[in-house]
Amino acid sequence: MNFDIPEELKRLRESARRFVDEELMPLEAEHADSHDIPDDVRARLQARAKELGFWAFDLPEQYGGGGVGALGMCLVFEELAQCNVPAFRAPSVFTPFLGPVLFHGNAAQKEKYLMPVIRGDKRTCFALTENSGGSDPTSMATRAVRDGDHWVINGTKIFITHADKADFVQVFVRTGEGDEAKGRKGITCFLIDKGTPGMRLGQNFKLMSPDRPWELIFENVRVPASQIVGEVGRGWDLAREFLGMGRLIHGPKSIGRATRALRLAIDWANQRKTFGAPIASRQAIQWMIADSQVELHTARLLTYHAAWKADQGQPYHAEAAMVKLHCDEMFMRVVDRAIQIHGGMGLSKEFPLEVMFRDARSRLITEGSSEMQRMIIAGDLLSGKSAIDRFAD
Ligand SMILES: Cc1cc2nc3c(=O)[nH]c(=O)nc-3n(C[C@H](O)[C@H](O)[C@H](O)COP(=O)(O)OP(=O)(O)OC[C@H]3O[C@@H](n4cnc5c(N)ncnc54)[C@H](O)[C@@H]3O)c2cc1C
Repeated sequence: MNFDIPEELKRLRESARRFVDEELMPLEAEHADSHDIPDDVRARLQARAKELGFWAFDLPEQYGGGGVGALGMCLVFEELAQCNVPAFRAPSVFTPFLGPVLFHGNAAQKEKYLMPVIRGDKRTCFALTENSGGSDPTSMATRAVRDGDHWVINGTKIFITHADKADFVQVFVRTGEGDEAKGRKGITCFLIDKGTPGMRLGQNFKLMSPDRPWELIFENVRVPASQIVGEVGRGWDLAREFLGMGRLIHGPKSIGRATRALRLAIDWANQRKTFGAPIASRQAIQWMIADSQVELHTARLLTYHAAWKADQGQPYHAEAAMVKLHCDEMFMRVVDRAIQIHGGMGLSKEFPLEVMFRDARSRLITEGSSEMQRMIIAGDLLSGKSAIDRFAD
């Protein structure tokens, strides 16, 4: 077994670290609590990322990307996520992070949608969740009905991140009849351009985390059949692939943020004195630091293993659920301990920890709650799809 990280990925991680220190950290005081960075700042950072050869580092080489694979993507996101500037949210300053759906489009769709996103000229968003419950997206009520060569879509999506900035939407709707109108069957993915009559923004949700997702309303939205990605009724497979990669990426984002929190906790413990000695000399504080380090290290091993499986072309669905569950819950505990170690200052808005705490709380729900991850993991075990001693099978 070899735990070495390839030299070229180490160099990539080092350059990403420098970019974060030099370009992003100076912006933190102003933008830490924002859901997005202003367009002009994003454009400047993206131009710098392109200059340094970072842009689209994670996308396949055949599409002009850096082709660093899942492990490389994890290492870079770990660095980006150390900073509270929302540069690691979709789309990041290094990559459009568009998800896998558009790679399944036909040649015309790739030309019109995929390539401009990869170049950074267009933005997109992923619209699956509805009022009926994000945990059970197959209960969706948004429906498309065929009308000649066109489809007419009616319904409402909620919590859609960056719906306001998207030049087009990747939306999942029900197209089946009878038995296909239930469960995973009969779901289809459409691409809908901004400005298409009948599609409009609704409520802008204000959450405890800095995120500000949108309600997206479809009223008799008429689109040609050429806007369907893949086959009619096979959209669930596309959504599932998107969610699987999203869960894996939760790993490095939570690891990066927890690393920063632990580093701050260690610095504070060493310099803060009570009763004549640094609090770092107290066992109560040392145990919190030790527990955080063990959890962080476990999270890295779990994440890099899942990324390695993805890079080998092996199924990583069950691993991605474990990554999301463990890393997000680990981040919550690590940032909580870091605040405890800081005492009252940990609660201050002058320090980066309180916004990280609010973000950590949100991560236990977004892109599949902790309960859903446990359901996936247990479901695979109980049905025999996955083994207790599963490692590289
Ligand atoms: C900041 C943010 C950004 C988002 N961005 C997007 C986006 O861009 N696109 C998109 O499509 N969606 C997005 N979402 C939606 C997100 O994926 C859902 O909020 C999430 O999946 C949870 O769904 P829900 O909020 O409807 O909770 P529910 O599904 O209603 O669940 C409520 C609670 O019940 C639990 N629960 C549900 N079913 C079960 C069960 N069978 N057993 C045990 N417990 C259960 C859940 O774990 C949760 O604790 C976003 C959400 C947030 C908060």
